Amino acid sequence: MPIEKVAIVGAGIAGLAAALAFARHGIASDLFEQAPHLVEVGAGLQVSPNASRLLGELGLLSQLEAVWTEPAQISLVSGTSLRALAHVPAGDYARNRWGAPYGVLHRATLQRVLMHAVEANPLCTLHLDTAVRDAPHATLARLTGVAYPLVIGADGVWSNVRTAIQGSPQPSFSGHVCWRFTFPDRLVPSWLKTNQVTAFLGPSTHLVAYPLREIGGFNMVAIASGASPGRTWDAQANDSQKRSLYGEFRRWDSRIVHLLRQTEQPTFWPLFEVGTGRWHNGRDTVLVGDAAHAVTPFAAQGASMAIEDGFTLARCLAESRDVPQALAAYESARQPRVAKVRSRGTFNRFAYHARGPIRLGRDMVLSLRPPEALAADLDWLYGFRAG
Ligand SMILES: Cc1cc2nc3c(=O)[nH]c(=O)nc-3n(C[C@H](O)[C@H](O)[C@H](O)COP(=O)(O)OP(=O)(O)OC[C@H]3O[C@@H](n4cnc5c(N)ncnc54)[C@H](O)[C@@H]3O)c2cc1C
Repeated sequence: MPIEKVAIVGAGIAGLAAALAFARHGIASDLFEQAPHLVEVGAGLQVSPNASRLLGELGLLSQLEAVWTEPAQISLVSGTSLRALAHVPAGDYARNRWGAPYGVLHRATLQRVLMHAVEANPLCTLHLDTAVRDAPHATLARLTGVAYPLVIGADGVWSNVRTAIQGSPQPSFSGHVCWRFTFPDRLVPSWLKTNQVTAFLGPSTHLVAYPLREIGGFNMVAIASGASPGRTWDAQANDSQKRSLYGEFRRWDSRIVHLLRQTEQPTFWPLFEVGTGRWHNGRDTVLVGDAAHAVTPFAAQGASMAIEDGFTLARCLAESRDVPQALAAYESARQPRVAKVRSRGTFNRFAYHARGPIRLGRDMVLSLRPPEALAADLDWLYGFRAG
Protein backbone atom coordinates (compact mmCIF):
# COMPACT_ATOMS: atom_id res chain seq x y z
CA MET A 1 0.00 0.00 0.00
CA PRO A 2 1.32 3.51 -0.78
CA ILE A 3 1.81 5.74 2.24
CA GLU A 4 -1.45 7.20 3.63
CA LYS A 5 -0.34 10.09 5.83
CA VAL A 6 2.79 12.18 6.28
CA ALA A 7 3.98 14.91 8.66
CA ILE A 8 5.35 18.12 7.16
CA VAL A 9 7.43 20.47 9.31
CA GLY A 10 7.21 24.08 8.08
CA ALA A 11 4.33 25.83 6.30
CA GLY A 12 6.35 28.06 4.00
CA ILE A 13 5.98 27.77 0.25
CA ALA A 14 7.64 24.31 0.18
CA GLY A 15 5.55 22.75 2.95
CA LEU A 16 2.20 24.12 1.79
CA ALA A 17 2.79 23.20 -1.86
CA ALA A 18 3.90 19.71 -0.82
CA ALA A 19 0.75 19.17 1.28
CA LEU A 20 -1.45 20.11 -1.70
CA ALA A 21 0.59 17.96 -4.09
CA PHE A 22 0.20 14.95 -1.75
CA ALA A 23 -3.54 15.55 -1.49
CA ARG A 24 -3.83 15.27 -5.28
CA HIS A 25 -2.60 11.69 -4.89
CA GLY A 26 -4.93 10.99 -1.96
CA ILE A 27 -2.12 11.22 0.64
CA ALA A 28 -3.10 13.08 3.83
CA SER A 29 -0.73 15.39 5.70
CA ASP A 30 -0.37 17.07 9.07
CA LEU A 31 1.56 20.35 8.74
CA PHE A 32 3.39 21.85 11.71
CA GLU A 33 4.39 25.52 11.57
CA GLN A 34 6.21 27.34 14.35
CA ALA A 35 4.67 30.76 13.57
CA PRO A 36 1.34 31.45 15.32
CA HIS A 37 -0.02 33.13 12.18
CA LEU A 38 0.98 34.07 8.65
CA VAL A 39 3.91 36.47 8.82
CA GLU A 40 3.75 39.46 6.47
CA VAL A 41 7.55 39.71 6.53
CA GLY A 42 9.26 39.62 3.18
CA ALA A 43 8.71 41.25 -0.13
CA GLY A 44 8.53 40.10 -3.69
CA LEU A 45 8.90 36.63 -5.16
CA GLN A 46 9.15 35.73 -8.83
CA VAL A 47 7.09 32.73 -9.94
CA SER A 48 8.39 31.44 -13.25
CA PRO A 49 6.38 29.24 -15.65
CA ASN A 50 7.89 25.98 -14.36
CA ALA A 51 6.20 26.74 -11.00
CA SER A 52 3.07 28.59 -12.15
CA ARG A 53 2.22 25.51 -14.23
CA LEU A 54 2.11 23.49 -11.00
CA LEU A 55 0.11 26.15 -9.17
CA GLY A 56 -2.32 25.89 -12.10
CA GLU A 57 -2.56 22.13 -11.54
CA LEU A 58 -3.52 22.91 -7.94
CA GLY A 59 -6.34 25.13 -9.26
CA LEU A 60 -4.79 28.28 -7.78
CA LEU A 61 -3.78 30.21 -10.88
CA SER A 62 -6.90 32.37 -11.22
CA GLN A 63 -6.56 33.54 -7.60
CA LEU A 64 -2.92 34.43 -8.21
CA GLU A 65 -3.64 36.15 -11.52
CA ALA A 66 -6.14 38.38 -9.69
CA VAL A 67 -3.37 39.81 -7.49
CA TRP A 68 -0.02 39.38 -9.17
CA THR A 69 1.67 41.32 -11.96
CA GLU A 70 2.69 39.64 -15.19
CA PRO A 71 5.71 41.61 -16.40
CA ALA A 72 5.96 42.18 -20.14
CA GLN A 73 9.67 41.36 -20.01
CA ILE A 74 12.70 40.79 -17.82
CA SER A 75 15.15 43.56 -18.68
CA LEU A 76 18.86 43.79 -17.99
CA VAL A 77 19.93 47.41 -17.60
CA SER A 78 23.30 48.96 -16.81
CA GLY A 79 23.29 50.35 -13.27
CA THR A 80 25.98 52.85 -14.17
CA SER A 81 24.34 54.37 -17.27
CA LEU A 82 20.70 53.12 -17.20
CA ARG A 83 21.28 51.84 -20.74
CA ALA A 84 19.11 48.82 -21.64
CA LEU A 85 21.39 45.86 -22.39
CA ALA A 86 19.03 43.05 -23.27
CA HIS A 87 15.66 41.58 -22.41
CA VAL A 88 13.82 38.28 -22.20
CA PRO A 89 10.18 38.60 -23.25
CA ALA A 90 7.58 37.48 -20.67
CA GLY A 91 3.81 38.27 -20.55
CA ASP A 92 1.90 36.49 -23.34
CA TYR A 93 5.20 35.38 -24.87
CA ALA A 94 5.95 33.32 -21.73
CA ARG A 95 2.48 31.76 -21.81
CA ASN A 96 2.95 30.75 -25.44
CA ARG A 97 6.56 29.61 -25.23
CA TRP A 98 6.55 27.82 -21.86
CA GLY A 99 2.83 27.08 -21.55
CA ALA A 100 2.36 28.98 -18.28
CA PRO A 101 2.65 32.58 -17.04
CA TYR A 102 5.48 34.46 -15.33
CA GLY A 103 4.22 36.40 -12.30
CA VAL A 104 5.58 38.56 -9.50
CA LEU A 105 3.87 38.96 -6.14
CA HIS A 106 4.44 39.40 -2.43
CA ARG A 107 5.73 36.27 -0.70
CA ALA A 108 2.94 36.56 1.90
CA THR A 109 0.29 36.58 -0.86
CA LEU A 110 1.53 33.30 -2.32
CA GLN A 111 1.77 31.81 1.17
CA ARG A 112 -1.79 32.99 1.98
CA VAL A 113 -3.29 31.52 -1.22
CA LEU A 114 -1.54 28.19 -0.56
CA MET A 115 -2.55 28.28 3.11
CA HIS A 116 -6.24 28.86 2.32
CA ALA A 117 -6.13 25.96 -0.13
CA VAL A 118 -4.57 23.76 2.56
CA GLU A 119 -7.18 24.82 5.12
CA ALA A 120 -9.98 24.02 2.63
CA ASN A 121 -8.58 20.59 1.77
CA PRO A 122 -9.96 17.76 3.94
CA LEU A 123 -6.74 15.77 3.50
CA CYS A 124 -4.56 18.54 5.00
CA THR A 125 -4.44 19.64 8.64
CA LEU A 126 -2.46 22.72 9.61
CA HIS A 127 -1.11 23.12 13.15
CA LEU A 128 0.13 26.68 13.70
CA ASP A 129 2.24 27.77 16.66
CA THR A 130 3.85 24.33 16.78
CA ALA A 131 7.63 24.27 16.56
CA VAL A 132 9.23 20.89 15.95
CA ARG A 133 12.64 21.01 17.54
CA ASP A 134 15.17 18.30 18.39
CA ALA A 135 14.54 14.74 17.14
CA PRO A 136 11.57 15.30 14.79
CA HIS A 137 9.94 11.84 14.99
CA ALA A 138 10.08 11.72 18.78
CA THR A 139 8.87 15.32 19.09
CA LEU A 140 5.93 14.70 16.76
CA ALA A 141 4.99 11.47 18.54
CA ARG A 142 5.02 13.38 21.84
CA LEU A 143 2.96 16.27 20.41
CA THR A 144 0.36 14.24 18.54
CA GLY A 145 0.57 10.62 19.68
CA VAL A 146 1.03 9.62 16.02
CA ALA A 147 4.03 7.64 14.71
CA TYR A 148 4.33 9.09 11.20
CA PRO A 149 5.84 6.79 8.56
CA LEU A 150 7.44 9.84 6.93
CA VAL A 151 8.49 13.27 8.22
CA ILE A 152 9.17 15.92 5.59
CA GLY A 153 11.49 18.76 6.55
CA ALA A 154 10.17 21.89 4.84
CA ASP A 155 11.58 24.04 7.63
CA GLY A 156 13.77 26.30 5.55
CA VAL A 157 17.41 27.18 5.37
CA TRP A 158 18.03 26.73 9.13
CA SER A 159 16.20 23.39 9.19
CA ASN A 160 16.01 21.35 12.36
CA VAL A 161 14.69 18.21 10.60
CA ARG A 162 17.94 18.14 8.60
CA THR A 163 19.84 17.17 11.76
CA ALA A 164 18.05 13.78 11.64
CA ILE A 165 19.71 12.94 8.31
CA GLN A 166 23.31 11.80 8.38
CA GLY A 167 25.36 13.35 5.58
CA SER A 168 22.76 16.05 4.97
CA PRO A 169 23.94 19.32 3.42
CA GLN A 170 24.94 22.16 5.73
CA PRO A 171 24.02 25.86 5.61
CA SER A 172 26.74 28.45 5.16
CA PHE A 173 26.70 32.20 4.81
CA SER A 174 27.38 33.23 1.20
CA GLY A 175 29.07 36.54 2.09
CA HIS A 176 26.17 38.42 0.48
CA VAL A 177 23.18 40.14 2.01
CA CYS A 178 19.92 41.06 0.33
CA TRP A 179 18.59 44.56 0.89
CA ARG A 180 14.84 45.08 0.56
CA PHE A 181 13.43 48.49 -0.37
CA THR A 182 9.79 49.24 -1.05
CA PHE A 183 8.28 52.53 -2.14
CA PRO A 184 4.83 53.74 -3.19
CA ASP A 185 3.76 54.31 -6.81
CA ARG A 186 3.95 58.10 -6.34
CA LEU A 187 7.73 57.83 -5.90
CA VAL A 188 8.28 55.76 -9.07
CA PRO A 189 10.59 57.82 -11.30
CA SER A 190 10.01 58.14 -15.06
CA TRP A 191 13.13 56.09 -15.89
CA LEU A 192 11.82 53.04 -14.02
CA LYS A 193 9.50 51.02 -16.26
CA THR A 194 6.49 49.75 -14.36
CA ASN A 195 5.51 46.84 -16.63
CA GLN A 196 8.67 44.79 -16.34
CA VAL A 197 11.16 43.16 -14.00
CA THR A 198 14.36 45.20 -14.26
CA ALA A 199 17.73 43.86 -13.17
CA PHE A 200 20.19 46.74 -12.88
CA LEU A 201 23.72 45.37 -13.15
CA GLY A 202 26.68 47.11 -11.52
CA PRO A 203 30.17 46.39 -10.25
CA SER A 204 29.93 43.78 -7.43
CA THR A 205 26.24 44.55 -6.83
CA HIS A 206 22.93 44.23 -8.62
CA LEU A 207 19.45 45.52 -8.00
CA VAL A 208 16.18 43.93 -9.09
CA ALA A 209 13.03 46.07 -9.29
CA TYR A 210 9.42 45.23 -10.07
CA PRO A 211 5.94 46.44 -9.15
CA LEU A 212 3.95 44.76 -6.37
CA ARG A 213 0.24 45.35 -6.70
CA GLU A 214 -0.43 44.29 -3.12
CA ILE A 215 1.58 47.20 -1.71
CA GLY A 216 0.58 49.71 -4.38
CA GLY A 217 4.21 50.30 -5.13
CA PHE A 218 7.56 48.88 -6.02
CA ASN A 219 9.81 46.20 -4.65
CA MET A 220 13.56 46.61 -5.02
CA VAL A 221 16.11 44.11 -3.85
CA ALA A 222 19.84 44.81 -3.89
CA ILE A 223 22.35 42.03 -3.46
CA ALA A 224 25.70 43.14 -2.12
CA SER A 225 28.49 41.73 0.01
CA GLY A 226 28.10 42.21 3.74
CA ALA A 227 28.17 40.59 7.18
CA SER A 228 25.45 38.24 8.39
CA PRO A 229 23.09 39.74 11.00
CA GLY A 230 22.15 36.16 12.12
CA ARG A 231 19.04 34.08 11.45
CA THR A 232 16.59 36.72 10.31
CA TRP A 233 14.51 37.74 7.29
CA ASP A 234 14.04 41.29 8.46
CA ALA A 235 17.11 42.93 10.00
CA GLN A 236 16.92 46.69 10.54
CA ALA A 237 19.98 48.53 9.28
CA ASN A 238 21.94 50.79 11.60
CA ASP A 239 23.59 53.97 10.29
CA SER A 240 26.93 52.36 9.59
CA GLN A 241 25.30 49.47 7.68
CA LYS A 242 23.33 51.98 5.62
CA ARG A 243 26.49 53.96 4.89
CA SER A 244 28.25 50.82 3.70
CA LEU A 245 25.22 49.92 1.53
CA TYR A 246 25.17 53.32 -0.17
CA GLY A 247 28.95 52.97 -0.59
CA GLU A 248 28.31 49.90 -2.77
CA PHE A 249 26.48 52.19 -5.21
CA ARG A 250 29.05 54.98 -5.37
CA ARG A 251 29.79 54.39 -9.05
CA TRP A 252 26.15 53.89 -10.02
CA ASP A 253 23.94 56.33 -11.86
CA SER A 254 23.02 59.07 -9.37
CA ARG A 255 19.30 58.70 -10.10
CA ILE A 256 19.33 55.20 -8.64
CA VAL A 257 21.26 56.33 -5.57
CA HIS A 258 18.79 59.18 -5.08
CA LEU A 259 15.83 56.77 -5.30
CA LEU A 260 17.36 54.34 -2.80
CA ARG A 261 17.95 57.15 -0.34
CA GLN A 262 14.32 58.26 -0.66
CA THR A 263 12.82 54.92 0.35
CA GLU A 264 11.67 54.23 3.86
CA GLN A 265 13.87 52.24 6.20
CA PRO A 266 15.40 49.39 4.15
CA THR A 267 15.63 45.95 5.76
CA PHE A 268 17.99 43.14 4.91
CA TRP A 269 18.60 39.45 5.38
CA PRO A 270 21.68 37.26 5.05
CA LEU A 271 21.94 34.98 2.03
CA PHE A 272 22.64 31.48 3.26
CA GLU A 273 23.23 28.55 0.96
CA VAL A 274 22.65 24.90 1.71
CA GLY A 275 25.27 22.84 -0.10
CA THR A 276 25.22 19.29 -1.39
CA GLY A 277 24.54 16.12 0.62
CA ARG A 278 21.83 13.56 1.36
CA TRP A 279 18.22 14.71 1.38
CA HIS A 280 16.78 11.63 3.13
CA ASN A 281 17.80 9.00 5.64
CA GLY A 282 16.71 6.02 3.50
CA ARG A 283 13.86 5.33 5.89
CA ASP A 284 11.46 7.92 7.22
CA THR A 285 12.81 11.49 6.87
CA VAL A 286 13.25 13.68 3.80
CA LEU A 287 13.89 17.35 2.95
CA VAL A 288 12.22 19.73 0.47
CA GLY A 289 12.74 23.38 -0.47
CA ASP A 290 15.36 25.54 1.22
CA ALA A 291 15.93 22.89 3.90
CA ALA A 292 17.40 20.67 1.16
CA HIS A 293 19.08 23.16 -1.13
CA ALA A 294 18.73 26.89 -0.41
CA VAL A 295 20.40 28.67 -3.31
CA THR A 296 21.29 32.34 -3.66
CA PRO A 297 18.60 34.26 -5.58
CA PHE A 298 20.70 35.00 -8.69
CA ALA A 299 18.38 32.83 -10.82
CA ALA A 300 15.22 33.84 -8.86
CA GLN A 301 14.24 30.19 -8.38
CA GLY A 302 13.93 29.70 -4.58
CA ALA A 303 10.14 29.46 -4.41
CA SER A 304 9.84 27.72 -7.78
CA MET A 305 12.28 24.96 -6.81
CA ALA A 306 10.41 24.48 -3.53
CA ILE A 307 7.12 24.00 -5.41
CA GLU A 308 8.70 21.57 -7.90
CA ASP A 309 10.15 19.48 -5.03
CA GLY A 310 6.74 18.86 -3.46
CA PHE A 311 5.25 17.69 -6.76
CA THR A 312 8.08 15.29 -7.48
CA LEU A 313 8.13 13.86 -3.95
CA ALA A 314 4.36 13.34 -4.02
CA ARG A 315 4.56 11.53 -7.36
CA CYS A 316 7.41 9.29 -6.21
CA LEU A 317 5.52 8.33 -3.05
CA ALA A 318 2.27 7.75 -4.90
CA GLU A 319 3.96 5.53 -7.47
CA SER A 320 5.95 3.34 -5.11
CA ARG A 321 4.83 0.98 -2.39
CA ASP A 322 8.27 1.20 -0.88
CA VAL A 323 9.09 4.45 0.98
CA PRO A 324 12.92 4.13 0.86
CA GLN A 325 12.72 3.49 -2.88
CA ALA A 326 10.45 6.52 -3.35
CA LEU A 327 12.84 8.72 -1.38
CA ALA A 328 15.79 7.58 -3.50
CA ALA A 329 13.81 8.22 -6.69
CA TYR A 330 12.90 11.71 -5.47
CA GLU A 331 16.50 12.57 -4.64
CA SER A 332 17.83 11.33 -7.97
CA ALA A 333 15.13 13.22 -9.88
CA ARG A 334 15.66 16.49 -8.06
CA GLN A 335 19.37 16.79 -7.32
CA PRO A 336 20.53 17.21 -10.95
CA ARG A 337 17.81 19.79 -11.56
CA VAL A 338 18.74 21.84 -8.50
CA ALA A 339 22.45 21.55 -9.37
CA LYS A 340 21.73 23.00 -12.81
CA VAL A 341 19.77 25.89 -11.29
CA ARG A 342 22.60 26.50 -8.83
CA SER A 343 25.11 26.65 -11.71
CA ARG A 344 22.91 29.10 -13.55
CA GLY A 345 22.83 31.26 -10.41
CA THR A 346 26.64 31.15 -10.16
CA PHE A 347 26.91 32.16 -13.80
CA ASN A 348 24.43 35.03 -13.29
CA ARG A 349 26.37 36.22 -10.24
CA PHE A 350 29.57 36.33 -12.28
CA ALA A 351 27.88 38.14 -15.18
CA TYR A 352 25.71 40.52 -13.13
CA HIS A 353 28.51 41.70 -10.83
CA ALA A 354 31.24 41.88 -13.52
CA ARG A 355 33.72 44.76 -13.45
CA GLY A 356 36.20 46.31 -15.87
CA PRO A 357 36.88 44.56 -19.19
CA ILE A 358 34.66 41.59 -18.31
CA ARG A 359 31.77 44.01 -17.86
CA LEU A 360 32.43 45.58 -21.27
CA GLY A 361 32.54 42.14 -22.90
CA ARG A 362 29.33 41.14 -21.12
CA ASP A 363 27.51 44.24 -22.31
CA MET A 364 28.62 43.65 -25.89
CA VAL A 365 27.59 39.98 -25.90
CA LEU A 366 24.22 40.80 -24.35
CA SER A 367 23.47 43.55 -26.84
CA LEU A 368 24.11 41.14 -29.73
CA ARG A 369 21.67 38.50 -28.48
CA PRO A 370 18.08 38.81 -29.68
CA PRO A 371 15.35 38.39 -27.03
CA GLU A 372 14.20 35.07 -28.55
CA ALA A 373 17.72 33.63 -28.23
CA LEU A 374 17.87 34.64 -24.56
CA ALA A 375 14.43 33.08 -24.06
CA ALA A 376 15.57 29.85 -25.76
CA ASP A 377 18.45 29.64 -23.24
CA LEU A 378 15.81 29.34 -20.54
CA ASP A 379 13.70 26.57 -22.11
CA TRP A 380 15.29 23.90 -19.87
CA LEU A 381 14.36 25.98 -16.81
CA TYR A 382 10.94 27.45 -17.56
CA GLY A 383 9.66 24.66 -19.81
CA PHE A 384 10.34 21.98 -17.18
CA ARG A 385 7.44 19.82 -16.03
CA ALA A 386 7.91 18.51 -12.48
CA GLY A 387 5.64 15.89 -10.99
C1 LIG B 1 9.58 35.14 7.01
C2 LIG B 1 10.23 34.87 5.67
C3 LIG B 1 10.42 35.91 4.78
C4 LIG B 1 11.05 35.68 3.53
N1 LIG B 1 11.20 36.72 2.67
C5 LIG B 1 11.74 36.50 1.46
C6 LIG B 1 11.87 37.57 0.52
O1 LIG B 1 11.52 38.71 0.77
N2 LIG B 1 12.43 37.29 -0.71
C7 LIG B 1 12.85 36.02 -1.03
O2 LIG B 1 13.35 35.79 -2.13
N3 LIG B 1 12.73 34.99 -0.15
C8 LIG B 1 12.18 35.19 1.07
N4 LIG B 1 12.06 34.15 1.94
C9 LIG B 1 12.57 32.82 1.54
C10 LIG B 1 11.67 32.12 0.53
O3 LIG B 1 10.37 32.06 1.03
C11 LIG B 1 12.26 30.73 0.31
O4 LIG B 1 13.57 30.84 -0.20
C12 LIG B 1 11.48 29.88 -0.71
O5 LIG B 1 10.15 30.25 -0.82
C13 LIG B 1 11.55 28.41 -0.29
O6 LIG B 1 10.68 28.25 0.81
P1 LIG B 1 10.72 27.13 1.92
O7 LIG B 1 9.30 26.84 2.23
O8 LIG B 1 11.61 26.03 1.56
O9 LIG B 1 11.41 27.87 3.17
P2 LIG B 1 10.86 29.07 4.05
O10 LIG B 1 10.14 30.06 3.24
O11 LIG B 1 12.01 29.54 4.86
O12 LIG B 1 9.78 28.38 5.02
C14 LIG B 1 10.15 27.56 6.10
C15 LIG B 1 8.98 27.51 7.09
O13 LIG B 1 9.30 26.59 8.14
C16 LIG B 1 8.98 27.17 9.39
N5 LIG B 1 9.86 26.55 10.40
C17 LIG B 1 11.19 26.70 10.54
N6 LIG B 1 11.66 25.96 11.57
C18 LIG B 1 10.57 25.32 12.09
C19 LIG B 1 10.40 24.41 13.17
N7 LIG B 1 11.44 24.01 13.92
N8 LIG B 1 9.16 23.93 13.43
C20 LIG B 1 8.08 24.33 12.66
N9 LIG B 1 8.19 25.21 11.64
C21 LIG B 1 9.42 25.68 11.35
C22 LIG B 1 9.26 28.66 9.17
O14 LIG B 1 8.57 29.46 10.11
C23 LIG B 1 8.74 28.87 7.75
O15 LIG B 1 7.36 29.15 7.72
C24 LIG B 1 11.48 34.35 3.20
C25 LIG B 1 11.28 33.30 4.11
C26 LIG B 1 10.67 33.54 5.35
C27 LIG B 1 10.46 32.38 6.33
